[in-house]
Amino acid sequence: MMLQEGIDRSISNELFQESKNYFPGGVNSPVRAFKSVGGTPLFIKKGDGAYIWDEDGNKFIDFCCSWGPLILGHNDPDVFHSIVETLKNGSSFGAPTRKENELASFILERIPFIDKLRFVSSGTEAVMSAIRLARGYTGKNKIVKFDGCYHGHVDALLVNAGSGLATFGTSSSAGVPETFAQETLVLPLNDLDTLKTCFEAYSGDIACVIIEPIPANNGLLLQDNSFLNGLRALCTEFNILLIFDEVISGFRVAFGGATELYGIYPDIVTYGKIIGGGLPVGAYGAKKEIMQFVSPDGPVYQAGTLSGNPVAMAAGLEQLKKCSEQGFYIELANKTTEFIEGINSFCAENNFPLELVSIGSIFWFSFNGKKRILSSSQIDPDMTYFNKLHNYLLNQGVYLGPSGYEVGFISSKHDKKMIEFAAQKIIEGIKELF
Ligand SMILES: *Cc1c(COP(=O)(O)O)cnc(C)c1O
Repeated sequence: MMLQEGIDRSISNELFQESKNYFPGGVNSPVRAFKSVGGTPLFIKKGDGAYIWDEDGNKFIDFCCSWGPLILGHNDPDVFHSIVETLKNGSSFGAPTRKENELASFILERIPFIDKLRFVSSGTEAVMSAIRLARGYTGKNKIVKFDGCYHGHVDALLVNAGSGLATFGTSSSAGVPETFAQETLVLPLNDLDTLKTCFEAYSGDIACVIIEPIPANNGLLLQDNSFLNGLRALCTEFNILLIFDEVISGFRVAFGGATELYGIYPDIVTYGKIIGGGLPVGAYGAKKEIMQFVSPDGPVYQAGTLSGNPVAMAAGLEQLKKCSEQGFYIELANKTTEFIEGINSFCAENNFPLELVSIGSIFWFSFNGKKRILSSSQIDPDMTYFNKLHNYLLNQGVYLGPSGYEVGFISSKHDKKMIEFAAQKIIEGIKELF
């Protein structure tokens, strides 16, 4: 690929040199460091609608959208107004506020399979608490996760499959004791037989199964409906709780996330990202019988100094109100389909091994020879194509999350012209690749 007349990144580069003195790798969350795609990260100065600007003044159409939360794009005027109005009364009290009731009732009215919620401050915290609740409720210790699903940096879930089919995990991060990892069984996605074998062997010890019903943190690994339905049925049969981690899919593919889209209901659900309108919020919820185990009603301890923060609640509520408007998700999905179809037909005509996979307004560049990919082991680990394309697009004013394993997002602020422009740039980039 020819070298682009690259954009000027000198201020971002200076800031990165400085930030390396302050933070490990210069960042506060690893993927931001651009290690996967090579090069150095852009420091973002501002965002508005579907655009972001870096510190050097370069403008990009943003398909990262803060990794998912910004379904209304940057600085939506109503969300902004709601944040400012709420902030005028103070930022945090450590006491109950009306805003928590408002956001909770708005959600619970629209998501029928949960009776109660608890707000926390991140997706990781929601998942960590949901696992503790499942263990406290069932009195069992082991948990099952799937290879290729991400659930935040919870100790018990930073676990890889060991060798063999239904195996006890081995920790995937230093600092997670092997004894913790051994409480986690790691199974392949989309494989009911292995799941059943595992349940038959260990059901007496398994508290819960956790899955991203739409796995979207390691490519976009759309599962067969029969697998998700089978998983639900087996959990019921073996008396094991099912947790849907909808931190990324909740309020994204439909208001009620994958559960609404597929009509499959877990026992516990976790939310994050979109629920906070761009501010730090997570939540977990379940039926009354399960939620009554959470303190102070029950024995499962869980707390948070900034939980239910009123400013974050206000941002979330305003965003979710707009998401719940008639036709909101259909329009987003249509835009996304339009975006990927042009690129996909171009790739098909030219026999290029790339296909964009999508669901709702989530899309992923799958450089896997147009095979449908259902598990992470099928992903081609060579990300050279994506990395080159990523770099090309940055120089053309299109910002994708800096890793080929990450999905992209379309917000309500991405209009037809922006999408056509981006698709055109992607096609030009692909022509240079092959
Ligand atoms: C982002 C994500 C998390 C972690 O959320 P944080 O807010 O980053 O802690 C957990 N699960 C899924 C499915 C996610 O997409």
